[in-house]
Order: sequence, then structure tokens, then C-alpha cells
Amino acid sequence: MINDFHVHTEFSCDSQADLEEYIKTALLYNMNSICFTEHVDFNKNDYGYNYYNPNQFFKKYNEIKPKFKNKIKILAGIEFGEPHLYYDKLRKLSAYPYDYIIGSIHWIGDMFPCQKVRGQYSAKDFYTLYWQEILKTVKQGGFDALGHIDFPKRYYGEIYYNEQTMNEIFKYLLEKDMVIEINTSSLRKGHQQTMPGTELLQIYKDNGGKYITIGSDAHEVRDLAADNSIARKIISDLNLQEVIYINREKVIL
Ligand SMILES: [Zn+2]
Ligand SMILES: [Zn+2]
Repeated sequence: MINDFHVHTEFSCDSQADLEEYIKTALLYNMNSICFTEHVDFNKNDYGYNYYNPNQFFKKYNEIKPKFKNKIKILAGIEFGEPHLYYDKLRKLSAYPYDYIIGSIHWIGDMFPCQKVRGQYSAKDFYTLYWQEILKTVKQGGFDALGHIDFPKRYYGEIYYNEQTMNEIFKYLLEKDMVIEINTSSLRKGHQQTMPGTELLQIYKDNGGKYITIGSDAHEVRDLAADNSIARKIISDLNLQEVIYINREKVIL
């Protein structure tokens, strides 16, 4: 059963992909569900600052969804950047009929892990700041799944963490009944591991975490459900459970 719960379309600043093309491809792949999760960013440094328009998205979504009725589950979501910093905006947006909300940290203030920042901060120093932002955002909550939990890995190619901080992050996350995703986009960038890899997933599990969503983070139709089977295998090897979300409710598969 293939579910892709992290997909960007033309309603995200950095994608031109067409909703309907994704759905047609999903049918070819015999997918069970697809959830569109457009970028929502309010950091002024972000290229997509204030780009997302929920009314435009839902107009197209509501036009297309009925065409594929009973063929595949088509779901609506967002990937909201730095939820703890723009919490009022997140709450307002949550009034729209979303099925699923990802909370992601892309920015630490005006810093993104681009080449310039990587020259200034060692992986260890950057991750130390990053985990503090993650901690703040899981304490605040308001979303369903934390996106690509070890995001700097996509740029630094390595990971640094201390177990105590991870335990604290998972404690708050699980208290709020939130989950994490396995994001497979790092594999397409040539890295060895999904985000997160098995090490962090094991710590998640040790803290009582059980449920996982799977997302390709596709920005192009050709990346839909990419490496989904790898993510599913990791989940089954660790004895975790894949879930999807409908109407902001977890659905165990
Ligand atoms: Zn992201
Ligand atoms: Zn994304």
C-alpha cells in the first residue's frame, strides 16, 4: 500500500507540478493515497514568503478531487515553516479543511543551511541551534507531524545530536500526540539515509513513538512516492506502524 504524505505542487513557491498530473501518476502506481502539502512560509528571508494562497489551492483541489472519487484518497495538507514563530497564522490557516499539517524547521532566524552558512557553522554547531528550534516547535505543537526531523543532513550530509535532547524532543512530541515522517528526499540528493535514518527512529521508538508517515517531498511528478518501499521496509524492520491522516485524525493502516 503506497501513501505519499509530502507532495508539493504549483501552489508551493518552488514547484510547478500539476495536481492532476500527480493524481494520474498515483493511479498508475496503484497508490492508496496522496496528500498535497504546500509550503507555507512567513520567514521574510524565504523565497516563498507569503506565497501560499489557501483559497487558490482549495479552488483547484475541489475541482479536481471529485474526478477521481473512489479511485484514490486525495488529501489536502500544508508544510508550515517554523510553526512556533507564526502560531497565530497557523491557527487561522487550520480553519481550512486540511487533512494533515506538517511542521518543519527550515530557518534558524535568517539562517538556512546553505553553502555560506555551512562555511560559517560546523555541522555540530548548526545542529545544536537547530535542535533548540525543534524543541521550541514541538513544545508549541499545532501540527500533526514533524517534517524531515534531521533536515540539516540534506545539506551537511551528516548528523549530530545528543540523545538527551532527542529524548526531550520526542517526549514533547508524543505528549501532543504528534508523529514524525520518514522523508525520502535525502536519498535523491545522494545521501545514504532517509530523514530520519534508523538511529533516530530507534530513539523515537525507545521513547514510546510508534506511528510514522511517509513522504517523498516531491516537487516534480517524477518524484512522487520515490523510495517509498525503502521507507516501508525501515518501518517494518523497526516494528513501527505507518499511518495516514484524514481530517487531522490519524488513520492506522
Ligand atoms: Zn521541508
Ligand atoms: Zn517539503
